[in-house]
Amino acid sequence: MPHFIFEIALAILGIFLLEFILRSRNYNGKKHNVIFLGAPGAGKGTQASRLAKELKIPHLSSGHLLRQAVVDGTPIGQQIKSYIEKGQLAPDEVLNAVIAEQLQKPEYANGFILDGYPRTIEQAQFLDDYLDKNDRYITAVFDLQVDEDVLVERISGRRICGNGKCGATYHIKSMPPRQEGICDLCKRPLAQRADDNEEVLRQRIERHEQRIVHLLVHYDNQGTLFTIRGEGSVDEIYEDILLSIGI
Ligand SMILES: [Zn+2]
Repeated sequence: MPHFIFEIALAILGIFLLEFILRSRNYNGKKHNVIFLGAPGAGKGTQASRLAKELKIPHLSSGHLLRQAVVDGTPIGQQIKSYIEKGQLAPDEVLNAVIAEQLQKPEYANGFILDGYPRTIEQAQFLDDYLDKNDRYITAVFDLQVDEDVLVERISGRRICGNGKCGATYHIKSMPPRQEGICDLCKRPLAQRADDNEEVLRQRIERHEQRIVHLLVHYDNQGTLFTIRGEGSVDEIYEDILLSIGI
């Protein structure tokens, strides 16, 4: 009889253990601190915001980060504002201060998805140190790889409504307006962003390649880097992202 009780106890313990393992693998209980890397036009923003919705954690793009700091009106935000007004890029230490200021907010406590930051190895090292001090760490880095010619086609086909209050966006191939060159919503003419032309784009892509190489080595050494082929449908790419982190 005592032997029988022992076996039942063992079975119950096993069930608890199994539940604990399953629960710890469940992404709702796990913290995801994610970074998206990829050239302009690689689709970082689209994939990042989709993953953020699924994991129920905030998506923080570098543009949003800077705007939020300005809106918050903190001393760092005021510095950012003066750089934006002068048309200059904020230096590393200012961006780092902004990221630290944002990530300490309670909404980022259960994880976050960064897109557009870090851009340099100095920023990546700052982020590692900051997270480490707060008992956190980067859990996954996705590098979306897209062929240069595909990037150029994607970006140079972008059109934006010239009406500032509307701002609807189109793509001459993948999302054309009903009437060529005219906004579906407000019937105003569509325009191309000045820096969305091929020559400027190829320069931006080249600068990105040079900058990102150090980041790739950094995250590869940490074992957090996942290389994702960023061509194909948005759904296919998203599936690859989920599969790579076992969701
Ligand atoms: Zn419009």
